[in-house]
Parts: sequence; structure tokens; C-alpha cells
Amino acid sequence: MSEGPVRAAIVGGGIGGLFTANALLRQGLEVTVFEQAPELGEIGAGVFLTPNSVRQLDRLGLGEAVRRRGALVGAASRYYRHDGTEIAPVQVTDSSGWNATFGMHRADLVDILAEPLPEGIVKTGHCCTGIEQDGTVARVYFSNGAVAEADVVIAADGIHSVLRPHVTPPSEPVFSGSGAYRGTILHERVPDWPTDAWQMWLGQKKHFLVFPLRSGKLINYVGFVPADEVLKESWSAPGDPEKLRAEFAGWDERIEHLLAQVEHTFRWALYDRDPLPIWTRGRLTLLGDAAHPMLPHLGQGANQAMEDGIALATILSGARRETLPAALRIYEGLRRERVAEIQRGARQNGLRYDSAYSDLGVRDAEIVAHAAFRRSVYDYDVVPLAERATVGETARLALPT
Ligand code: FAD
Repeated sequence: MSEGPVRAAIVGGGIGGLFTANALLRQGLEVTVFEQAPELGEIGAGVFLTPNSVRQLDRLGLGEAVRRRGALVGAASRYYRHDGTEIAPVQVTDSSGWNATFGMHRADLVDILAEPLPEGIVKTGHCCTGIEQDGTVARVYFSNGAVAEADVVIAADGIHSVLRPHVTPPSEPVFSGSGAYRGTILHERVPDWPTDAWQMWLGQKKHFLVFPLRSGKLINYVGFVPADEVLKESWSAPGDPEKLRAEFAGWDERIEHLLAQVEHTFRWALYDRDPLPIWTRGRLTLLGDAAHPMLPHLGQGANQAMEDGIALATILSGARRETLPAALRIYEGLRRERVAEIQRGARQNGLRYDSAYSDLGVRDAEIVAHAAFRRSVYDYDVVPLAERATVGETARLALPT
């Protein structure tokens, strides 16, 4: 068995993989990130960050960059019915009153996560094809012929993860029936649009979300609509701005005004998976969408991937080579049920957002009450829980420390 720091191979250089690389490096592990694309990057759309992940970005010293490059939203955030009738304020603080809810451009977040990584840690152009492992080491294979040896392998390779079938029997992703048009608009094109609010309009089988990015210089929109067969098969495709406008014609005139500015748009089919029964096999574990792809109706996929990353790093900080498989099981034990609850919650919230209720008064009351659930998600700090789980399990399993 080799000496020196534990060697971690992260497959996938998305938000989950890059965040985890920062978290593991801070704990003294030797880290390599393998990304299939020729360079790091993300699609030109927004992602909403919430206090449960911003707390962890702060721990890694990255919160300042999020504050500088994101757009804080606040008390003006609202849910509306499709015609603009107000339903409820949106929860933007945790229980202590701390507001850390930011609209971020995805490419900016990837930059913020990649920038602190020392040269040579991210290896682009590495498409993983498989893994082999024995009691002492794992070998990860790539289509370019490269082979990487590691003590622990973290599959952060997204919803289509090639490594997931090495952990749990293959299964099909679940199609939601919906798709999302996404894009951004320069604020100067819609100067009256608020730059400090997350706003969502709820209609029949559709909903429309808007929040700011880049200190309000960009406005991000997401139009959720029923998906057609073409989108279902293609997963993502260019969208037609005229069709997008037609989907929301007759809604609140603020939406019509905003959509009048759209010149290009793109659409995504929305898939998730049922919660997996297992995340870990030997020295391999799953993280982020590879472990728990979820519908975006709680805005938690990336936030949960970051919770995974800091939990894993906390647990691995005390592990030695021979205790790594046990440490991965502690990570799975801490995360799997917690994230399954959010996966199920995202499906349920999608029904609220798409007005799948015979009595919209009941739906509206649930939206009001849902603030408490959001607060509990925002309050969650996974690090002390990971520390306690490590100590508790180490004692229970009588693992060498
Ligand atoms: P990914 O982002 O999928 O990254 C996986 C990486 O692995 C990619 O870079 C890919 O190229 C690479 N890869 C794949 N296969 C291989 C391979 N074989 N070898 C090497 N590399 C590989 N989440 C939020 O928290 N807030 C939001 O507001 C939000 N809004 C959303 C809106 C929509 C419409 C959608 C669809 C999702 C939204 N999400 C949101 C979810 C969020 O985008 C995802 O959960 C998050 O990006 C997952 O990150 P990840 O790193 O796990 O996976």
C-alpha cells in the first residue's frame, strides 16, 4: 500500500465534482478531477444558491466570490398565480434570519470553484469508461487510454453516470413529462425588472421562474411547460422564442413584457431518478446528480451536491487507506435518506407549482406552509452532523482511528 496522503479521483468536473475537490484538498487529500469535456464550463443559465450550501462555500473561503459575482435576492421575492395575484412571500432566510440566497450564473460558479484549484488537478478530455478495484486500490479507465490509480473514487459524473452501474443495478431515469425553457436577458433591456427578487408564477401544468444574476445585470428566466416526445428523446434542444411566448400568452403582463425580449432560448427535458438503495461499493461512491438527480422544483440539486461534498470531505479527513470503504459507508448513511427526502419533496412541489389541485386555495395554503420546510433545508448544516457520524460510527464499528 502506498504511503503519503489518501489519493482521491473525482470523475466529473461539474459543480459537485469541483466543489468536492476544494473540500478534499482542504482536508489534505491528494485530488485529481477527470472531466470528459475539453474544457470546464457550464450552460448559459442560472442556478439558485441557498444558505445550506452558501454556509459551506463560506467554510471553503469561496463565499466572498459568490457575494461579489452573484445577485442576492430578498424580501421582495414572491409566489404568484399565473395572472399575477400574489400567493405568498418566498422564504429567503434561515431560522436565524440570515439571508444567503443568490442567483448565480452557472459559468461564474464553475469559475469560482475551479479558480482556487492548483494547476494540474483538473484533467479535461478524460472520459471515464469504467473502474476496477480490489481490497487495496481502485483503477479508473478513460477512453483516451489513460488509467488512474486512486485510494477512493468519487463519481460526480451526473445523471447519466457511467460509474453508477458499478455500485447499483442499472435503472432508467424517470421522465417528468415536463421541460424547461431557460435563458438570460440583459437587465438594461427590462430596466424596470426588480434585481433583488426571486419570483414565480404558477399556472395549469406550467410555471415560470425569474431571478437575477451578476448583481442584477442579467435576468434569468425558466419557463416550465409540458414536454413533447421530441424533447423527451433528445433531452435538450434549441427552443423557439415564439413558442415560448405562446406558452405563457395571457399570463401576468410582466411575463409577456419580459419574454418579448427573448431572442434565443434552449430547452431541457426534466428527468430524475427514484432514490437509489445504495451509493457505495468498496472504494467507489456517488455524489451529486450521479447519486440523486432530482427535479428542480426545490432548486436543490446543486446545493445538495455541495452538501455531499463537504460531508464527504469531513468524513474522509480522519480516514486511513484501510478505513476508506467504511468511511464511504458513513457518508452514504448520513446523506442517502436526507437527499431522498428532498428528491421526493421536489416531485411533490412540482405538483404545487403546476397547480395539480382541484382546489387552488388548498394549494396556496400549502405554498404558504411550505416556508417552514424551506427554512429547515436552509438551516441544515451537514458538517457537525458529519463530524458526529464519523465519531459515532468509528466507535460503533471499532474502526482503528
Ligand atoms: P453535472 O452538473 O451533470 O456534472 C457532471 C460532470 O461530469 C459534467 O461536467 C460532465 O461533463 C462530466 N461527466 C459526465 N460523464 C463523464 C465521464 N464519463 N467521464 C468524465 N466526466 C464525465 N440546482 C440547484 O441547486 N439550484 C437551482 O436553482 C437549480 N435549477 C435547476 C434548473 C433546471 C431546469 C435543471 C434541469 C436543474 C437545476 N438544478 C438546480 C440542478 C443542478 O443543475 C444539478 O443538480 C447540478 O448541476 C448537478 O451537478 P453535478 O456536478 O452532480 O452534475
